[in-house]
Amino acid sequence: MTAFDDLYAANAKYAKDFGDSGLTGRAARGLAVVTCMDSRIDPLGLLGLQPGDAKILRNAGARVTDDVLRTLVLAVYLLGVERVLVMPHTDCGMTKVTDADVHELTSARGVDTRSLEFHTVPDQGEALRHDLTRIRSTPFLPAGMPVTGAIYDVRTGLLTPVGD
Ligand SMILES: [Zn+2]
Repeated sequence: MTAFDDLYAANAKYAKDFGDSGLTGRAARGLAVVTCMDSRIDPLGLLGLQPGDAKILRNAGARVTDDVLRTLVLAVYLLGVERVLVMPHTDCGMTKVTDADVHELTSARGVDTRSLEFHTVPDQGEALRHDLTRIRSTPFLPAGMPVTGAIYDVRTGLLTPVGD
């Protein structure tokens, strides 16, 4: 037994009925979604998308980090992305702690995380506006590319546009 046996067993079943879609790695709907790693979010399902439609970028808090910008540049110029939705969510763990809290929690376990930036979110609206501005103002993405934000409600399944 390993910690991953359940996954390999499930995959063997999955692959039995798997049919090659013939899709390429390009985003068929020209979309990239930046969202949180929260396990309650089903980005494809909640947006009416299928595998192949969109690039999904996930991290803690749906933050537009340097790595997200790097990935968006590749998604736009190599993989057909023409629009970006940044989608944080209600009840996000990143809104409930500060970076200092996280350092304290890890320190209690004997781990020094002070060299890491966690990009915790004291004000979700402000963080989202900041992140949208980061995408809109980067010199590396096409000027005028549609970029918007929306908060996903994990209780109702509804998106609330935030936009600017
Ligand atoms: Zn979250």
